[in-house]
Amino acid sequence: MAESPPGSVSVRKMEDRFGHRISYLRVSVTDRCNERCQYCMPQETQEWLNREEVLSYEEMLRVVRVGSGLGISKIRVTGGEPLTRRNVLWFFEQLNRVDGINDIGISTNGTLLGKLTKEGISTAQALKNAGVRTVNVSLDTLDPESYAETTGRDLFEDAVAGIDAAREAGFEKIKINSVLMRHRNEHELWDMIEFAKDRELLLRFIELMPVSTTHVLTEENFLPSGEAKKLIEFRHGKLKPRPDIRTNGPATYYEIPGTGQIVGFIGAMTNLHFCETCNKLRLTCEGKLRPCLGSHLEFDMREVLRNEEMTDEDVARFFMNVVDRKPEMHEFRENYQPGRKMVAIGG
Ligand code: SAM
Ligand code: SF4
Repeated sequence: MAESPPGSVSVRKMEDRFGHRISYLRVSVTDRCNERCQYCMPQETQEWLNREEVLSYEEMLRVVRVGSGLGISKIRVTGGEPLTRRNVLWFFEQLNRVDGINDIGISTNGTLLGKLTKEGISTAQALKNAGVRTVNVSLDTLDPESYAETTGRDLFEDAVAGIDAAREAGFEKIKINSVLMRHRNEHELWDMIEFAKDRELLLRFIELMPVSTTHVLTEENFLPSGEAKKLIEFRHGKLKPRPDIRTNGPATYYEIPGTGQIVGFIGAMTNLHFCETCNKLRLTCEGKLRPCLGSHLEFDMREVLRNEEMTDEDVARFFMNVVDRKPEMHEFRENYQPGRKMVAIGG
């Protein structure tokens, strides 16, 4: 790779060995969370990373700046629960100032979106003011008891208040991500559809993935998206495929006949085309760059970031090397054994 003068990372594009242009970086800002979702975290006592192990906002911004010079234009901030990290609104404001970043989103459990900031506005409104375009809220059930059981916290009302705060703030898009679990929420799919329709939210059902070291990730709890689709069709009639709808991710979308409402499915386990459009990298909060959620490959970028001799050009080279190792597809269908908890990777 040719050397560039210091401070001027030349504009190159990152493309993996399979022709995917990499333009999307998920940044996990914390491994901590105010909930304890059964499929995400082991239920035993949590051990969190020490403060100095977690990248500072400045370090994360440097990664984003270098990434944008290599073609990254979309950032989704995630965690853990990103809204639990101190001064996270400042981080969003700074992200919005990075040249080349034109699409900023957040993945959140929603429980803190309605919380008022010092300025007396909702956190959702503050995120909107900071330049966030899309909000993905996780909500698996509309039953407060089931919510408490799944998430380990009695925060259903806060999550719904958060969704309403996001609606009031007027985001371009609000998506609801709902993890499918047999015997847990399969009887609620129709109600979830109504909930999303009433509030004009884009609902997506997600298959359980073996990404975490938790006890609920079993065959018995797995509900395939094809079966969820059939359950929906039982009431609503045949769903119409909408391949024209793309949200820069692996969801496939369908239209519910008669209403025009769109519903999405994220079927990492059963959709054999799942990885074909992957344009994503993940930065964990302790600075590991991961080319794929469903592979154990991860590379320690923190070492480079904290080495004073390493320039932005070295960080760029690190990016390119990781992209070169991006696998063609995930390994979830090959008896993949999770190595760490999801909350530490960043969903
Ligand atoms: N705390 C935020 C939230 O809940 O949206 C962001 C982080 S969370 C790890 C991101 C997404 O990963 C959530 O939608 C969550 O439901 C999903 N997730 C976590 N563990 C999962 C699993 N084992 N299978 C499928 N999705 C999972
Ligand atoms: Fe927390 Fe999100 Fe994981 Fe639930 S899914 S434990 S809210 S990080």
